[in-house]
Amino acid sequence: MTSAKKRYVAYLAVLLGSLVGVFVWSRSIRADFLEYVEHELLDNNDFVLAAVDPESYAPLSFSSQDVDGPAYLHLRQHFMDLGEVMWDEYKIKGVYAMKVRGAEVVFIVDSAREDDPWHSEPGAVYQDPPQALFDVLRDGQARFVGPYTDEYGTYYSSFSAQKNLVGETVAIMGLDMSAADFQLLLNERNRAPIEFGGGLALVLLSFFVLIEYRIALVRRIRAKEEEVDRLKADFVSLAVHQLKTPLTGLKWSVETLASSPGPLSADRSEAIRDIGEITRGLNELVNALLNVTRLESGRIIIEPKPTALDKLAAGVIKELQKNALDKEQEITFAPDAGLPEVSVDPLMIREIYKNLLTNAIKYTRTGGRIEVRIASRGADIVSSVKDNGLGIPEDQKARVFEKFFRAHNIVSLSEDGTGLGLYFVKQIVEVSGGRVWFESEEGKGTTFYFSLPLAGSAPKEGEVRLS
Ligand code: ADP
Repeated sequence: MTSAKKRYVAYLAVLLGSLVGVFVWSRSIRADFLEYVEHELLDNNDFVLAAVDPESYAPLSFSSQDVDGPAYLHLRQHFMDLGEVMWDEYKIKGVYAMKVRGAEVVFIVDSAREDDPWHSEPGAVYQDPPQALFDVLRDGQARFVGPYTDEYGTYYSSFSAQKNLVGETVAIMGLDMSAADFQLLLNERNRAPIEFGGGLALVLLSFFVLIEYRIALVRRIRAKEEEVDRLKADFVSLAVHQLKTPLTGLKWSVETLASSPGPLSADRSEAIRDIGEITRGLNELVNALLNVTRLESGRIIIEPKPTALDKLAAGVIKELQKNALDKEQEITFAPDAGLPEVSVDPLMIREIYKNLLTNAIKYTRTGGRIEVRIASRGADIVSSVKDNGLGIPEDQKARVFEKFFRAHNIVSLSEDGTGLGLYFVKQIVEVSGGRVWFESEEGKGTTFYFSLPLAGSAPKEGEVRLS
């Protein structure tokens, strides 16, 4: 999965997680509210039971004939008053008393106004009474039910048995809250999670948009920087390339001059030798700069092939042996026996040995000792070049792999150099999948190490090779 895709998935997960949290919160509010309504309906049922005299049903016939009787009218007024209180205080929509006759339930009286669709005349049969009503009659225990739907709508109700002084059930008292009112009250309580959830989603979305905006901005800046770097590298590469042609010409002219027959004054031949030296140094600098720009441009070709590092290093030692002998230095070479071949680009790795060994020779006094080792270390092959030379000053160690760095303890030496060698080495080691480091003590010596993975370097297509 791309990193952008991973981010989007993470955003979605956070959003969904928050929404699930808000949903769980609102469900718990609903469960609490249901409990609250149950208590309200049951408590108020008790209250109504206490407020209605069980004897007030005695004069009634529980039929339509009750309608105009004073006992009914009185009871009806009382229920309407109770109903008003219940509605105002608790949004309980109806208070009513019922009589059970066999399997039939008839209404005795209710609190609804005449024009209210759920108002029932005395004696009217309740068509589809909930089972709870019969349960109340059976065991005398009050019940809460809901939501249930009957011909009047969907309700939450409480039922309880009203008993007279001798303990006979004279009526079943019912209190109703409509499902619509229940929902309205619940919505009010749910406003907090809904508002919070909406706010949270908005904050999260703005946050995600901000992150994306920042990422896009950083990418744009980075792309611009890369473009500038590339232009710079292209410029340097071009400039250095342009230097190569006149330099080659100069070198050729100096050589011709030096080897031309005829007598030359000592001054002149020294001047020609100096020009030759300077030209050689310049040529070296131009080559080093060319290689560095090639590596930096990322256009370098990496062509790994099975390589015996010990043979490669031995070749480089042989090549540089003359420089060491000039300074009466001894180079010892101690590769582990039976080293496996590793798949690396031999042209590149050769440059590493060459640079490290050249440095060891340059920065070690006449008569010094240099030791080259190659050893297997876990998943790597580690090569080291150790000398007992000048060492690197403590306060300069951090800068050793920087471009154009030359330590102050060697600047006074006549040894030439560009300060690009170790930078170059680090680039090559890293593109080859390895690591380079060193140990050094000023005045005692230095050991440079570099590792290469036994698994080999990854090949890379490109346009240029090292020169
Ligand atoms: P150059 O040798 O061309 O100056 P390098 O990048 O190869 O550049 O080395 C950078 C600097 O690190 C050197 O100028 C020198 O100060 C220090 N250095 C490198 N190798 C050694 C060494 N073996 N002993 C002491 N100093 C070293």
